[in-house]
Amino acid sequence: MKWISLFIVLLLLSCEVTTGFRSDKTYVIITFDDGHNSIYYTALPIMEEFGFRATNVINTGIIGNEISLTWLQVEELEFEHGWETAGHTLHHITLPTVPIEIVEYEIHQDWLNLIDHGLSHSTFALPSGKASQEHYDIILQYYQNVRTSLNITTYAPIDRTDLGYYPYLSCYSAETAEARILQAVENNECLLIIGFHRIMEETAGHPSNCKPDDFHKIMKFISDNHLEVITINEACELLSG
Ligand SMILES: [Zn+2]
Repeated sequence: MKWISLFIVLLLLSCEVTTGFRSDKTYVIITFDDGHNSIYYTALPIMEEFGFRATNVINTGIIGNEISLTWLQVEELEFEHGWETAGHTLHHITLPTVPIEIVEYEIHQDWLNLIDHGLSHSTFALPSGKASQEHYDIILQYYQNVRTSLNITTYAPIDRTDLGYYPYLSCYSAETAEARILQAVENNECLLIIGFHRIMEETAGHPSNCKPDDFHKIMKFISDNHLEVITINEACELLSG
């Protein structure tokens, strides 16, 4: 009996040590990466239906291209709908594949472009999820929050320079994402970042498409379960140590 009591005490102590302070809820963050125009035309009306806001991760060097968001749309998403805008390099370069001067330019100029347009500029998402320590040092000269591409579980206090995310892939269904959301709630994860790229009926070979019906189902599931949707920077302000 004594051993069982001791075990329970140790368990409670270890929870205290590993979590620091506890968050009693699971926040959800919706991110859209790479600035495809279906984010404006298809995702925005669904987000508005549920009163949700997202973090819009863009490459400012390709804004206004044929299938991309325009600057007016990016500005509307932040200024009229309360979304956060985040950096992702000018042209979505994979950082380890180019010289360090190009990395510096792609990150710094992208950040300056966000500032020029009066947009938020606290959050950066790693293109293709890849960066060395040298790259991190450059990113952290400009940004406070860094999202990786790792699907990790997150507990408070969070490390705002190393945020994981759950990417929605073309081979998934709404039920796949709903299962991950339920898992986050059951695990008492303080935060789940769900990452979308484009919201299209036709996947067209893209690995990270979500069909509009599935996207609607996932947003409805989040709403029906009364989960609060916030932006990356808001989560970092609330939950980082
Ligand atoms: Zn990307």
